[in-house]
Amino acid sequence: MSIEKSVKAFEEAQKLIPGGVNSPVRAFASVGGIPRFIASGEGAYIIDIDGNKYVDYVQSWGPLIFGHRNEEIETAVIEAVKHGLSFGAPTEAETELASMVTNFFESIDKVRFVSSGTEAVMSAIRLARGFTGRDDIVKFTGCYHGHSDSLLVQAGSGAATFGNPSSPGVPADFTKHTLLATYNDIESVKKCFTDSKDIACVIIEPIAGNMGLVPADKEFLAELRRLCDENGTLLIFDEVMSGFRASIFGAESITGVKPDIVTLGKVIGGGMPVGAFGGRSEIMAKLSPEGPVYQAGTLSGNPVAMAAGLAALKKLKAHARVMDVLHGRAARLVDGMKEMAQKHGISLQVDSRGSMFGFFFNDKPVKNFADALTSDTVMFAKFHAGMLDEGYYFACSQFETGFISTATTDAMIEETIKAADRVFGRIK
Ligand SMILES: *Cc1c(COP(=O)(O)O)cnc(C)c1O
Repeated sequence: MSIEKSVKAFEEAQKLIPGGVNSPVRAFASVGGIPRFIASGEGAYIIDIDGNKYVDYVQSWGPLIFGHRNEEIETAVIEAVKHGLSFGAPTEAETELASMVTNFFESIDKVRFVSSGTEAVMSAIRLARGFTGRDDIVKFTGCYHGHSDSLLVQAGSGAATFGNPSSPGVPADFTKHTLLATYNDIESVKKCFTDSKDIACVIIEPIAGNMGLVPADKEFLAELRRLCDENGTLLIFDEVMSGFRASIFGAESITGVKPDIVTLGKVIGGGMPVGAFGGRSEIMAKLSPEGPVYQAGTLSGNPVAMAAGLAALKKLKAHARVMDVLHGRAARLVDGMKEMAQKHGISLQVDSRGSMFGFFFNDKPVKNFADALTSDTVMFAKFHAGMLDEGYYFACSQFETGFISTATTDAMIEETIKAADRVFGRIK
């Protein structure tokens, strides 16, 4: 496989863009390879500028649940473009998308749209602080909630990959209000509530996808809900990744635990930049212009982005069973990979939720970030490179989640398992 053009493009990009990329994980730094520069996507495939074709298990890091160039989404976007790119004034599409979101998520009465997951979470935290009149927040080690200051503390995803859990440039004065707890460990949360009587909210990825895939235990989430209620603290589910990915009705439909605020992103924009946060009417009423908590955005609710999101959610609504089908494929993929790993004497921990899948090169189950960090990242890097050579594009870090799209067929899954068999055989 020649990647000559990507090598050259990466060199050029590095001269003008820090690290050659506009989001750190894309640089392949943790696997030591050269990022492929992409020319186009088609269904389950992406094609790089050297003409190599890969089955894409990244799907733009989640958003493309219907794969690349889905016809209905593409058509909706083109139609919207013809009416104008942006108005900075309300459009009916925003209300229509809001109506879909509130119908899917039982705990969302009202929702506001922004342009990224980072923005959604940042705004949700401000709202929780404004609503409760408290300053402190609790987050879990290994959960990623975007790159805003107070949340960039022991975050997963790119921050985990690069081993700089908190970033220079974030004042300690900001993060002193961020208390850290351990995922799936309720005692660590109780300790936070003992240490502080000023906790506005607890924010969690109910199905964590940014330290690899690590779902929260149901009982743990139920206890978390109880602790929040006891202390007058809001519970925020960050579902920027898991929303419309693990279930179209949110993590609450899987876990039975209801959050006060939900943050969304990725799938909700159908591939365009959209984030959202929503919750009970009484909480959302605190938001400007109804209430005093300020939040705004020139391109928020952008009509082209709304059109893409609407098309995606309409498709999910029309095919309610789609998540079961996707989950069947996600589960088959990781079960097959595990089987092949075992055949070659390699320990692999696997899990899947809806269309999300994860695997750790680890001989013990992974329940939290510390567990995840004991995984064999050297083995992962070899696996990643081997699969790329075979034409399979997996996320370039051990601490990321994989995604199945509706364009990913059963046959592709079986071929991927066979490729994994060959790769495990070479790297064991
Ligand atoms: C991706 C992600 C974010 C950040 O979203 P961006 O659109 O990248 O800003 C926040 N929270 C979670 C759980 C995510 O997966």
